[in-house]
Amino acid sequence: MTIVKRRTEPLRMAQLEALIRRLPYAHEQIPQIQEELAKQRVGYQGEKSLHYYFSFLSTEQMYLLHDVRLLGTNGYHFQMDTLLLTPGFIAIIEIKNYTGTIYFDPDTHQVTRSTSHSNDELLPNPLLQLNIQKAQLKGWLAQQEWPLVPILQLVVFSDPSTKIISTPKNAHLLKKVSTAPAFLSKIRELQTLYSKTYVLNSELKQLADALAEHHTPLQSNILKEFNIKRNSIISGVFCPSCHKPTLVRGVIIGKWFCPECQVSSKHAHINALEDYFLLLNKNVSSLEIHQFLHTATRQQAYDLLKPFSLSPLGGAFRSRRYELRYPLPLGITGD
Ligand SMILES: [Zn+2]
Repeated sequence: MTIVKRRTEPLRMAQLEALIRRLPYAHEQIPQIQEELAKQRVGYQGEKSLHYYFSFLSTEQMYLLHDVRLLGTNGYHFQMDTLLLTPGFIAIIEIKNYTGTIYFDPDTHQVTRSTSHSNDELLPNPLLQLNIQKAQLKGWLAQQEWPLVPILQLVVFSDPSTKIISTPKNAHLLKKVSTAPAFLSKIRELQTLYSKTYVLNSELKQLADALAEHHTPLQSNILKEFNIKRNSIISGVFCPSCHKPTLVRGVIIGKWFCPECQVSSKHAHINALEDYFLLLNKNVSSLEIHQFLHTATRQQAYDLLKPFSLSPLGGAFRSRRYELRYPLPLGITGD
């Protein structure tokens, strides 16, 4: 198995973290942001925990892609947690970290969870979610003129203590559900059922690369979503030692200096530029960076952007805009 697209910390998580960093402690939206961040972290951990099981498939002719977001033929984007590409099938795998006892109702298609502390909490049905993703992926493959490989759906509950229950009427649906420890046997079972080759190994790599190339990450306007005014965002470069946005440029040549704790830093602006990307805008002018980083001059801001070789987006020299990236390349180390 080759990992074509690795799982990285979701952009959403980085945006929420940046928001907490750059809002005053007492801001009214902080509890809400923290609540969502906690959920995101648990989900991310659940997804990462499945890596152990994937490692057993390392010698197989398979390709693995994480977090793939594509433009569907209906004009809407669709996002898939994990895609496993094999010569006989493509599996869309949705990893859930629901704990407790999960019940799939065959009549209402509802999913409820009960735990020792609570009874019957209604949860989104991951199988319905996967149906939409399957239809979208099928359309995408047809549009890109790929062979019609069987597309399978699999929900994996990452917490080994999760108990899944249903009724005999629902047996066909539960074939698409697995717990983490049963995941490998599930894959083996599918390999036996779908042993016919639809895509040759050489083409499979091309398909995996095509999927990775067409991935378009979602970047939402997080300030708008949480109804936060732009001027609530704290500007400046944070000190790596006292964590205050107090760093000044130019006191020591080529470095940032903290007047509060006398610490100096060479690359403290990188995090600030990333925060700008995550919260404010994907592209910037040197004037905007001068204002956000509180550099002494606009030329200083320009000099800080230069080593990243950002793509210019047009505009005359003084108002030229550049495309920021996240994460910014850290080719330079040391502080
Ligand atoms: Zn400091």
